[in-house]
Amino acid sequence: MNTDSHPALLGSLNSTAPHSEVINFSPGPTSLPKAVEERIAGLFNQPGLTSLALSHRAPEFLEILDHAVTKAREVMEIPDDYEVLFTHGGGHGQFAALPLNLCYQPTDVATYVVNGTWSARGAEEAKRYCHVQSIDGRDPKTGAYIGFPELTEENIDPNSKYVYLCSNETVNGIELHRLPTLPASRKHIPLVVDASSDFSTKPIDWHGCGVGVLFACASKNIGHPGLTMTVIRKDLLGEGKASPLCPGVFNYTTNSEAGNLWNTPATFNIEVVGFVMDWIEAQGGVYEIELRSIAKAAAIYDVIDSSNGFYGTPIENKALRSRMNVPFNIKGGDEEATNAFLIASWEKGMVGLRTLTPFGVGDYLRASLYNGVTVEEAQKLADFMRKFARNYG
Ligand code: PMP
Repeated sequence: MNTDSHPALLGSLNSTAPHSEVINFSPGPTSLPKAVEERIAGLFNQPGLTSLALSHRAPEFLEILDHAVTKAREVMEIPDDYEVLFTHGGGHGQFAALPLNLCYQPTDVATYVVNGTWSARGAEEAKRYCHVQSIDGRDPKTGAYIGFPELTEENIDPNSKYVYLCSNETVNGIELHRLPTLPASRKHIPLVVDASSDFSTKPIDWHGCGVGVLFACASKNIGHPGLTMTVIRKDLLGEGKASPLCPGVFNYTTNSEAGNLWNTPATFNIEVVGFVMDWIEAQGGVYEIELRSIAKAAAIYDVIDSSNGFYGTPIENKALRSRMNVPFNIKGGDEEATNAFLIASWEKGMVGLRTLTPFGVGDYLRASLYNGVTVEEAQKLADFMRKFARNYG
């Protein structure tokens, strides 16, 4: 086969390896834990209607909804003064919903920490609805996103309606393993967190870090595309808080007053979130998931760091290396070596290492290590990488 048109190089996820050997390292949507996928498949072998066919107001669905919310609260230790919403429109929906809910008028100020492609995108969208002040997180020398800027009195306007950050920059591979606290004189400002790609993989100090809103599009760690979980502190809800132009479907107050049933929610996807939360609980909870996430990322980073430059990664600051998405290149990005790696790994069933993003294929491959990837599977990729480096001419 002409290697230029090899499916592995075009982003295909259908490896020729036996199905049971396929490991999905995609950055999302991606696979869920095997036990969850089996439970989902089991739904279709049972008598009765599945949540795909249930009215969202039927008692059977209300039970499913209540289960998902209750389990998410338990697993993620979400305090009672927060509302759990299942919102529409994915992460991008929340990029718009946030300023529309937290800023009454377009002159209201919001501070955005921009340290990667997704926070940049969130800030761009917010500019339509409020006055965005950005904290530029690029490396001053290279302009690359490889770190996280300090949050100070100087760079946070005290009148900000919120301070926004992305706790895991999926493309750049930068993660805050714990949320920051704002400087004492800025603690009155709610923290808004895009946790799309790290939610459910570590605990969150909701009150301690002053979290006002946290959202996660489901399709990485907790479910399928089409659903976003948005957790909002109740004091940010209420009459007269949101912009009068905020669409009802995005309005946190409207949706919370309607108990997530203002319009038809993504019923099946909500059931799946409940399944994932059950799974996390059965594994030993979010603290256990965090240990596994640490082990998975360490397996890959160990290979990179001990490869004498055969593999490279842009994120040198180990404290900020994402446990969810590990970007790496081969021989400094050499095309021939990269293609050989992609084809050989794909043929062994390791798919999703090159993905097509809105920002292009980028200079790096990426191993995404969400809840659907086990420690053993991450180890398999690490072993493959080690062997490939040894054998590559
Ligand atoms: N935020 C982060 C951190 C992401 O990784 C993504 C990509 N899925 C988004 C936001 C955008 O989400 P969506 O495609 O659901 O709008």
